Amino acid sequence: MADTAGIDAVHVFSVPLRTRFRGIDVRDGVLVHGPAGWGEFSPFWDYDVTESRRWWAAAREAAVEGWPAPVRAAVPVNVTVPAVGPERAHGIVAASGCRTAKVKVAEPGQAAGDDVARVEAVRDALGPAGAVRVDANAAWDVGTAVSRIRALDAAAAGLEYVEQPCATLAELAELRRRVAVRIAVDEGVRRSDDPLRVDLREAADVVVLKVQPLGGVRAALRVAEAHGLPCVVSSALESSVGIAAGVALAAALPELPFACGLATVALFTDDVTGHPLLPAGGELPVRTVVPDRLAALAAPVDVDARWRARLGEVAG
Ligand SMILES: [Mg+2]
Repeated sequence: MADTAGIDAVHVFSVPLRTRFRGIDVRDGVLVHGPAGWGEFSPFWDYDVTESRRWWAAAREAAVEGWPAPVRAAVPVNVTVPAVGPERAHGIVAASGCRTAKVKVAEPGQAAGDDVARVEAVRDALGPAGAVRVDANAAWDVGTAVSRIRALDAAAAGLEYVEQPCATLAELAELRRRVAVRIAVDEGVRRSDDPLRVDLREAADVVVLKVQPLGGVRAALRVAEAHGLPCVVSSALESSVGIAAGVALAAALPELPFACGLATVALFTDDVTGHPLLPAGGELPVRTVVPDRLAALAAPVDVDARWRARLGEVAG
């Protein structure tokens, strides 16, 4: 079971986001060090102890065991566009240097027209050769998803895929029979009781893999193998230390047909390292990350105490 054997340093960090994302303005978490290097443990606060154990397994793997050998030296990545207005969306994509964009849609409080305007702006910024995908984070019922996806597919002049448009696999399967756009499953895998055995055959064309929620790079590779579908590696909004684990997974997958959602350090105002994993030419390199700015980003005392207590519960 989870434990802290081999861990020789624990640091709690806190970094503000540029734009509210996933309902949060500040991201905090724990970085741990061991014989293999640095690992990140940063389950969102709405995850309970049982679910957070997988996140700890990923941090422990990074710090104590290290990762499987890469089969590629760099990983293509997409720019992630939060639920911002069209001008800001255009600017984010243009500044990124990425040829693929993932656009957040179905933000609470926004209208269908906001999503269409954002996606149109993103297509304009990418040009006709770029790829546009959207992520609805399980917000729609099947009927809403059919109409929204048709409108967004038109606005994008072709969507690469739509990520988790509905909550359940049964809904995704029904939707998949009614729209031509590829369906990617994210929450349906990583929040299931058993990501290896969940049956995706009718429900998905693409599987989104995230290292921490799946329990590490090796565990995520087993999930990829079990489903035999094309995979995309995405972040869980980590610092560069956690992103390095995502890059290690993407670099170890036998096939990598889509750009990965690992360029999310750009969503933060700062990072735990002075040498952050930000894309150049639409790619991230496979490399080691050393968090040399831990003192500058140390969490406030109350947040620090909260994380150490959580780590004790999950890994103790
Ligand atoms: Mg997602």
